[in-house]
Amino acid sequence: MVNTRSVDAYKEAVDLMPGGVNSPVRAFKSVGLDPIFMEEGKGSKITDIDGNTYIDYVLSWGPLILGHADERVTESLKEVVEKGTSFGAPSLLENQLAKLVIDRVPSIEMVRMVNSGTEATMSAIRLARGYTNRDLIIKFEGSYHGHGDSLLIKAGSGVATLGLPDSPGVPENIAKNTITVPYNDVDSLKLAFEHYGDKIAAVIMEPVCGNMGVVPPKEGFLQAVRDITEQNGSLLIFDEVMSGFRVDYYSAQGHFDVTPDLTCLGKVIGGGLPVGAYGGKREIIEQIAPTGPIYQAGTLSGNPLAMTAGYESLASLSEASYEEINKKVDRLTEGFRQAADKYDIPLHINRAGSMVGVFFTDQEVVDFETAQSSNLDYFAQYYRAMIEEGVFLPPSQFEGLFLSTAHTDEDIEKTIAAVHTAFSKIEK
Ligand code: PMP
Repeated sequence: MVNTRSVDAYKEAVDLMPGGVNSPVRAFKSVGLDPIFMEEGKGSKITDIDGNTYIDYVLSWGPLILGHADERVTESLKEVVEKGTSFGAPSLLENQLAKLVIDRVPSIEMVRMVNSGTEATMSAIRLARGYTNRDLIIKFEGSYHGHGDSLLIKAGSGVATLGLPDSPGVPENIAKNTITVPYNDVDSLKLAFEHYGDKIAAVIMEPVCGNMGVVPPKEGFLQAVRDITEQNGSLLIFDEVMSGFRVDYYSAQGHFDVTPDLTCLGKVIGGGLPVGAYGGKREIIEQIAPTGPIYQAGTLSGNPLAMTAGYESLASLSEASYEEINKKVDRLTEGFRQAADKYDIPLHINRAGSMVGVFFTDQEVVDFETAQSSNLDYFAQYYRAMIEEGVFLPPSQFEGLFLSTAHTDEDIEKTIAAVHTAFSKIEK
């Protein structure tokens, strides 16, 4: 594979930006490669600046559920951009997306748009603290909720990929208000509540974890968390930045039929433009300014282009779209298993809708500890071979891969063939 232009671009970028990138996992560090610079995407394919085309399972880390440059999205964006890019005053486009979100996400009666998943979770935490008049929050080990100070404790995603357990720069006084417990472990959560119950403002969780690789909730786990938070007067926040509109038409909460008090959204809701949102019960959300005293604001929040991309993406999805994607995921995971059997590779696959986690381990992966049993050397070898075969995957064991409505049966079969080649080359 020729990559001379990416090599040159990286040489230039590394002097301009830390690691040459604007978000750490794009550095490809854990798989022993240098960053690949991309030029364009169409449907399920992405092309780098050297002209190599890949089947894309990164999809901008989740947002592009219709694939790249979907015409319904791009045509609407063209129309909207001609009318101006930002008003700093309300527009009908905000009502349009808000109505759709409220309609589809069971817990959301009212919503506030922001610009990223990080903003959504930071704001939801402030709201939960202000509403309950309590300071402590509980999160799960290996979950990632963006890079807000309170949430950057035992985090997943790039933090786990780079082996940075807690970030310098988070003041001890803030970190001490965050309690972490293992995911899928009801007893540990109960113990935390026995100690601190009346001080806990909220439990924030990914209803399906996607930042320690993909780890779905065990049967009954989400309901147990719902019951415990309710009994203790704490709020339950579902961080559906990744799982929202991806695990299911009605998001993970609709799929598992457990309704949180607050929900954070991002990724798919912006259709590839910068959007986040948080919403929930009306009486809680109305505590946000200007109706309430808890402050949160944003110069570009509700931006017309971002609202358009989000609305067009969500409006283009039907329940049938999810069934279609799920069938492709079925075939892909079956292909992975057959290749693992053939080449005697330890493999555990988790999935929830079109989020897929591939772990090189014999263990069942149910939390961050078991996710870490994955053989990272096998992962890196597999990763590099897949790139050679023209398949672009998230360059980290602790991230999931995503499918879109644009992935074809042919893409899936080509990917499975690539997995066979990659597994056959793994040196043990
Ligand atoms: N929450 C979850 C569950 C996420 O997966 C992410 C990003 N991967 C975030 C929050 C942060 O979102 P953003 O990168 O848009 O700030």
